[in-house]
Amino acid sequence: MTKGTKLYSIINLKCPRCQKGDLFINTGWIVYKQILDMPEECSNCNLSYNVEPGFYTAALWISYPIVLVVFIPLIILGFSLKSLHMFFTVLYPGIVVLSLLFQIPLMRFTRAILLNMHVDFNKHF
Ligand SMILES: [Zn+2]
Repeated sequence: MTKGTKLYSIINLKCPRCQKGDLFINTGWIVYKQILDMPEECSNCNLSYNVEPGFYTAALWISYPIVLVVFIPLIILGFSLKSLHMFFTVLYPGIVVLSLLFQIPLMRFTRAILLNMHVDFNKHF
């Protein structure tokens, strides 16, 4: 993955402007504490991560279509099963586990996308 692209910043959860500073205090995709805690600004280029109050609420509108893309096929699969019993014993536990596993990475992913939509890479930092 090439540095300087928005995909690099999103996948590595790095600052969108310099792509060196971390977006989150607790780095990585799978974390169990300080899930959404972000530093006030980038440790390298001082880009403020607090764009405006409530800025990251808009990340909900990015995660919503992603969740639809994942879960609509599962719902269609559920309708294609022969019995409701199979749905609740096989598919439903899978949906619950999938939801729990991807909740935290999805929240971090969508915050990174949102910030990258507003800030471009600058190679001078
Ligand atoms: Zn930076």
